[in-house]
Amino acid sequence: MRRAKRIASIPPYIFAQMDQRKQELLAKGVDVIALGVGDPDQPTPDWIVEEMGRAIKKPAYHRYPDYQGAAFYRRAMADWYRRRFQAELDPNREVVALIGSKEGLAHLIWAFVDPGDVVLIPDPAYPVYRTHTLLAGGDPYLMPLLPENDFLPDLDAIPEDVARRAKILFINYPNNPTSAVADLDFFRRAVDFARRHDILLCHDNAYAEMTFDGYVAPSILAVDGAKDVAVEFYSFSKPFNMTGWRIAAMVGNADAVSALGIIKTNTDSGQFTAVQEAAAAAFDHDPAAFFAKMNRLYTGRRDVFIDGMNALGWQMEKTKGTFYVWVPIPPGQTSGGFSQVCLDKAGVVVTPGVAYGPHGEGFVRVALTVDEKRLKEAVDRLEAAGVRYR
Ligand SMILES: *Cc1c(COP(=O)(O)O)cnc(C)c1O
Repeated sequence: MRRAKRIASIPPYIFAQMDQRKQELLAKGVDVIALGVGDPDQPTPDWIVEEMGRAIKKPAYHRYPDYQGAAFYRRAMADWYRRRFQAELDPNREVVALIGSKEGLAHLIWAFVDPGDVVLIPDPAYPVYRTHTLLAGGDPYLMPLLPENDFLPDLDAIPEDVARRAKILFINYPNNPTSAVADLDFFRRAVDFARRHDILLCHDNAYAEMTFDGYVAPSILAVDGAKDVAVEFYSFSKPFNMTGWRIAAMVGNADAVSALGIIKTNTDSGQFTAVQEAAAAAFDHDPAAFFAKMNRLYTGRRDVFIDGMNALGWQMEKTKGTFYVWVPIPPGQTSGGFSQVCLDKAGVVVTPGVAYGPHGEGFVRVALTVDEKRLKEAVDRLEAAGVRYR
């Protein structure tokens, strides 16, 4: 049997590959410290799990869900956006439930990109934007995220003819993998750019709630008129430790919500209504207090890791958001080679930056998904292995 040509160009999903490598080492009895995958190690809060216990017993939910998401779920998202971001949403036209943001991001591309259309994609970035652009026959245009630009794309550097052919502009702040944050002024410029070129602006806000040192992340929908051109993805995965539940929403531009709905109704039949009910309940029990608790935990881990690495010669600043640290690698090495050294000599799994795009070269990504003691041990092992920044 011959596979479709469209999947021949798709590199193996980096995290699946890394997981295999980790399993091999574990099988050999190596005590691996896994800082590769961005998956929270803490449990989903009790009140959400308990709501799920009640919801799963409702026979009405054992049938097919509503395609666009349950009315109560869409209302809960709209209420949360008003409370959290001061943004107004019509739950009937401007909210669609997703089986995780990853599903929605992928399908949104199929709803807007014809073969030959350009998609503007940050480099480095979450791999799904580029992979599905390629699958759909689109033409990814990579926008470098450089330290000297605070890891924001330079929209003015995009050539006019590229912008004219572009259908979607992806942005993501707080950012995976660089941990950079963006202010409303950048979002305003992105909205202007999208309006000028008739492009759908897609903001992936997966880390909106994972912020530190008093920084509060905005929504793209806080920009006046953003809904004319923009959608935002809001996921329960990272803030509520719910990656396994597969629940998120796309909100904003009504035409994009409707277009994504056409792909989704012909592909999946929506998320289990009981999961939607549990997720909607996430907002009922002082989520801000829960986020504050989680963010204190991540701040402690961040400090242990960054202070530890800085004692080995790095000069990293403290991050303001996400549970990632984007670590520059010592001059003269590649991100793949450096990751290999960390794994083979210290049993520490990190992700080579190049896995997120060519401009990820020169960095590795560390996920703060183990406790402070283990992070300290990871740094100690790197030190013992002779790893230094010089
Ligand atoms: C984790 C992550 C997602 C995926 O979220 P799900 O809702 O679990 O699918 C999307 N975008 C970015 C940038 C992420 O890091």
